Amino acid sequence: MLPDTAPAPLDVLRRVFGYDAFRGPQQEVIEHVCAGGDALVLMPTGGGKSLCYQVPSLVRDGTGVVVSPLIALMQDQVDALRALGVRAGFLNSTQNPDERRDTERAYLDGELDLLYLAPERLRVPSTLSLLGRGRIALFAIDEAHCVAQWGHDFRPDYLALSEVHERWPDVPRIALTATATEATRTEIAQRLDLTAAKQVVASFDRPNIQYRIAPKNEPRKQLLDLLRAEHPGDAGIVYCLSRKSVEQTAEFLVGQGIPALPYHAGLDAEVRARHQSRFLREEGVVMVATIAFGMGIDKPDVRFVAHLDLPKSVEGYYQETGRAGRDGLPSTAWLAYGLADVVQQRKMIDESEGDRAHKQRLGQHLDAMLALCETVQCRRVRLLNYFGQPGEPCGNCDTCLTPPESWDGTIPAQKILSTVWRLKNERNQSFGAGHLIDIVTGKRTAKVEQFAHDQLTVFGVGADLSEPEWRAVVRQLLAQGLLAVQGAYQTFALTDASSEVLRGEREVPMRRDPVKATRTRSRSSRGDAPALAPELAPVFERLRAWRGATAKEQGVPAYVIFHNAV
Ligand code: ADP
Ligand code: MG
Ligand code: ZN
Repeated sequence: MLPDTAPAPLDVLRRVFGYDAFRGPQQEVIEHVCAGGDALVLMPTGGGKSLCYQVPSLVRDGTGVVVSPLIALMQDQVDALRALGVRAGFLNSTQNPDERRDTERAYLDGELDLLYLAPERLRVPSTLSLLGRGRIALFAIDEAHCVAQWGHDFRPDYLALSEVHERWPDVPRIALTATATEATRTEIAQRLDLTAAKQVVASFDRPNIQYRIAPKNEPRKQLLDLLRAEHPGDAGIVYCLSRKSVEQTAEFLVGQGIPALPYHAGLDAEVRARHQSRFLREEGVVMVATIAFGMGIDKPDVRFVAHLDLPKSVEGYYQETGRAGRDGLPSTAWLAYGLADVVQQRKMIDESEGDRAHKQRLGQHLDAMLALCETVQCRRVRLLNYFGQPGEPCGNCDTCLTPPESWDGTIPAQKILSTVWRLKNERNQSFGAGHLIDIVTGKRTAKVEQFAHDQLTVFGVGADLSEPEWRAVVRQLLAQGLLAVQGAYQTFALTDASSEVLRGEREVPMRRDPVKATRTRSRSSRGDAPALAPELAPVFERLRAWRGATAKEQGVPAYVIFHNAV
């Protein structure tokens, strides 16, 4: 029970934080925790999770102990709170013994409203004994998805958090995360012993963020176009997969007169701290980073988040894009996505350590991400549905604004797949996308001549589509699991599902990337090439009836392979 003298949460919100009203489910959560209840809170990035434990820490007697993996941000968070007059401190490995002692003394003297702790501190017996000698208002477990072993941010130290509960069973606990799939939620609740806690799920919609996923041609140039046309002078984050590409992209942007800074785990801690602080304090800085950057960063005016490489999961993508537009103003989430991304990610999963179940799990995450990229539906609806929430077409994402056509890609699929099949079965060879496309489009390259691939019956069967269109076809075959990447050379192989396509038992719906007149895209054969060559449709129909006959006898095109052969 709260003493009568305890301040009311709304007073604290107004007086200390200077806000008028609670947002979303904040009030519900705060009242529950103030009254001593446990809570598991799921709110999108930028939703306002911090107040959910900061306000109760001020309302309740004692110190709110906040466990957070964001060591690099603790100083900033504490400074920001102190500027509001909140008595806050932190304990982590970056402090010298004097600083640590001062914080410990303040805690023991009851002079701290909030104490931020790095999770590894909880493993240290002296920390637990210190906590035991003071008065704890509540435990807050921020970024609680770090306890999920399958997640991308797993921290083993988070597993120690269940011991805290055993030791202080009467102290309320509040766990918070922006990672919200049912599976992760269940895992968090179980591992933190919060299955009986009140679960509060906020809407995951971020209406001010415009989601766009563009076909990748020349990503850096596309990025530059985006920044110049829509975000001149704006602060933003550009995510790249590798450290090297972070460095190169930052260099490229700087060369173009854009104040960009690199950030990745390979840089000195001191450099990282300096870049992070410039990003937070100066205006219009573009941070080019690996996913090592961004968790917990509370910069309200990040106007865009751009991904130059495909994220590994929808959850990661949503967290990263959620760093845009915390101030509620219009912001852009832009992702460039292409064939090479799919090849690379499939290969990375293949080569990753861990057992089959682990790889399967990674594969499912990737598939969900690919489905988001290839969808013809509203991106926002797809995202919300992924997090188990309903949604209406938003009218603001790229697919709402420029609806992509869907088209029947069965015959182009058969052309590519039968090329893979013939190379394997007639030549015992396998190749990557570029060469396959050269074969079907009938390009006489040196490699084609070297292997006499112009002798293949499938040579030139696909001259009706342009090379970019073929790349989109191959990309979607990979995305749909109708082609597999294999071996060190990333060549293609058929899957069980691709045989169904070759036998004419399965159709292959595809998305046509909307054409946007950009400098990088000089020509397109779209105008003269119908989606599904009409003269071929009847062939496909006849084929279903003619199974068993040989291609030669019936004049069936070379790219069709009969079921008994596949
Ligand atoms: P999260 O941790 O969920 O990503 P934060 O707690 O960092 O989000 O809050 C995001 C931003 O929203 C902060 O700038 C915060 O000050 C602001 N904010 C949170 N709650 C409110 C509120 N009730 N009214 C106005 N602004 C708020
Ligand atoms: Mg936060
Ligand atoms: Zn939409």
